[in-house]
Amino acid sequence: MSNGTLCLPGTMKILVVEDEIKAADFLRKALASESFAVDVSHRGDTALEMALETPYDAIVLDIMLPGRDGLSVLRVLRERGNNTPVILLSARSHLTERVDGLNAGADDYLPKPFALEELTARVKALCRRSGESRSVQLRVGNLVLDTVTRMAQRGAHRIELSAREYRLLEYLMRHPGRVCTRMLLLEKVWDYDFDPGTNLVDVTVRRLRERLEFPGEEALIHTVRGQGYMMTSRA
Ligand code: CA
Repeated sequence: MSNGTLCLPGTMKILVVEDEIKAADFLRKALASESFAVDVSHRGDTALEMALETPYDAIVLDIMLPGRDGLSVLRVLRERGNNTPVILLSARSHLTERVDGLNAGADDYLPKPFALEELTARVKALCRRSGESRSVQLRVGNLVLDTVTRMAQRGAHRIELSAREYRLLEYLMRHPGRVCTRMLLLEKVWDYDFDPGTNLVDVTVRRLRERLEFPGEEALIHTVRGQGYMMTSRA
């Protein structure tokens, strides 16, 4: 498992689930050479946890796995509302398995053995499709904000936001790594062109932080002493 992959903005993040160590390593290298950020899991149960916690752009999922088989991983993901594109890999090219896979919510299916070029081409095609339908999403660390539904999601947690909290979060997420002064936030989020002399910004930031915080998760909104706030992730 390789966690903490350095993820540049725009880098597509892929989870490869394959119990054969050598095969998994080939897949990881092939995808990494195409500039994907790749995490690897050799077990179905671990893969399911990772996929529920991290918003991947696509998952390459073997069917025969220890811990939990690939079809079961896929079913649970879809039951939980996770729509990450999934390519199923199978040693057997039985029609029934292919049909089972597509019924369980797979986006593509590749029988083994396959050429690595074939797999990378299909992963790229899936990411392109999902990128188009998901271009409305902002992301900082494992926090994802959907600008259409106005829902935030952190790992497996869905977060409800008030209209003002949403505007504040959207502004901060559109300017990651930049210090946003209180005055700037008053202007952009509250449409004030004057300082009302209250702690309005601080109070709303505090409420937003409480909503985004879960045990074991890093803080994403940082206080820059004497200046304002900054949204950034170590991940
Ligand atoms: Ca296998």
